[in-house]
Amino acid sequence: MAKYDYDLFVIGAGSGGVRAARIAATHGAKVAIAEEYRVGGTCVIRGCVPKKLFVYASHFSDEFEEAAGFGWTVEGARFDWKTLIANKDREIDRLNGIYIRNLEKAGVEIVNSRATVKDAHTVYLEAEKKDVTAERILIAVGATPFLPAIPGIEHAITSNEAFHLDELPRRIVVVGGGYIAVEFAGIFNGLGVETMQLYRGSLFMRGFDDDLRELLSEEMLKKGVDLRMNCDIVSIEKKDGELHLKLTDGDVICTDCVMYATGRAPNTKGLGLEEVGVKLGKGGEVIVNEYSQTAVPSIYAVGDVTDRANLTPVAIREGHAFADTVYGGRDVKVDHSIIPTAIFSQPEMGTVGLTEAQAREKHGDVDVYKTAFRALKNTLSGSQERTFMKLVVDAKTDKVLGVHLMGPASGEMIQAVGIAVTMGATKAQFDATIAVHPTAAEELVTLREKWQAPVVKAAD
Ligand code: NDP
Repeated sequence: MAKYDYDLFVIGAGSGGVRAARIAATHGAKVAIAEEYRVGGTCVIRGCVPKKLFVYASHFSDEFEEAAGFGWTVEGARFDWKTLIANKDREIDRLNGIYIRNLEKAGVEIVNSRATVKDAHTVYLEAEKKDVTAERILIAVGATPFLPAIPGIEHAITSNEAFHLDELPRRIVVVGGGYIAVEFAGIFNGLGVETMQLYRGSLFMRGFDDDLRELLSEEMLKKGVDLRMNCDIVSIEKKDGELHLKLTDGDVICTDCVMYATGRAPNTKGLGLEEVGVKLGKGGEVIVNEYSQTAVPSIYAVGDVTDRANLTPVAIREGHAFADTVYGGRDVKVDHSIIPTAIFSQPEMGTVGLTEAQAREKHGDVDVYKTAFRALKNTLSGSQERTFMKLVVDAKTDKVLGVHLMGPASGEMIQAVGIAVTMGATKAQFDATIAVHPTAAEELVTLREKWQAPVVKAAD
């Protein structure tokens, strides 16, 4: 008789957990996966996928307007929120079904229950009120929106609820200055909602290249987002069907909806991890080694719960590497050093490698190439939106250390250029690549002039 019920028990059926379960099962392991909500996790159910569908929806307002320059007349264009929600829900149901079928096809047992860890090899299933044992346990429970404890915070929503609002609000205030805040400010603004975004610091998108941060703020302001930096909410009060927000600058504003996008916290509360010896960090994240193994050798963790790089493709890579290493006989570590990423803000951004500031700190002598221009389409569309591209190059080795893009299709471009940066391509190799014309991306291989900081003359 086998010593354990399963070889592997995965807690959490999001991107990382599902990949790990499927690959481990394909390698011959007996695997079960527990999920308390819906198979697919944040990305599929209430993250990347529905968000991107909303981004598409919100682009049409600009596109209808810009069509006129190309000779089109678009009459009677109207937006219906309920149709978007219903169609989005149908697509999410379809994807949820595919995820379930793929797990089943691989022979993974799906358990619809919250699961907690009882000891190094035992998991308690709350719905079934029973223990099961496994040789190894994988924690892939993701993260959940964090909201600061200010008076009236119960009136605020997060991205979780934004996907299911009964009505599109007339006015919204989005709080935060990271990925989710800029993406949702763009979505609501594009859908015609009077949108304000508040960020507590002096410039949002902390950690991204400073040029991108500056330019995104300028473009969002041009598009009509009331973007306020150095500003936060002190309290929220509900009065006469409206929300009254007291701001740190003393202002009081009225709105219909407040959405917080102030980061996400790992879902480790009440999971029983610390009790069995798993080490958690200050934010509750599971501390793991390069093989995603925790302080308890039989317990592993992948994805957002480990707070390494909280991105779906990273969780998938970590889950796959874990399964290949433990069950596939291959030693696979995930390299977190170069991660291409897209921000579906409006305009969209794509970034890979080091920012200029990071490159200067790490490599000292750095050459910068950058360009800002109005894309060809905008000559007729009338849009004033600028496209921006920047290459950060190691002056000594000529290696391209970072690429930072803003403008249409930046997400698509950064995936391709991410290959070159991951391979360690030099600026000379970028330059040797023949341009694709007419595209915006051709700028990536035709930038010849090093950027010089403007000379600031001392005042007389
Ligand atoms: P982020 O960590 O990116 O940003 C959180 C923002 O909230 C920061 O601007 C932060 O400010 C601010 N903040 C934090 N605490 C407070 C507070 N108490 N009061 C006011 N402001 C506060 O989190 P998100 O929620 O935007 O996104 C979560 C994760 O999801 C990201 O790490 C990202 O990896 C992932 N994601 C990726 C996407 C993509 O790939 N396109 C899309 C959406 C999410 P400060 O900078 O001052 O700390």
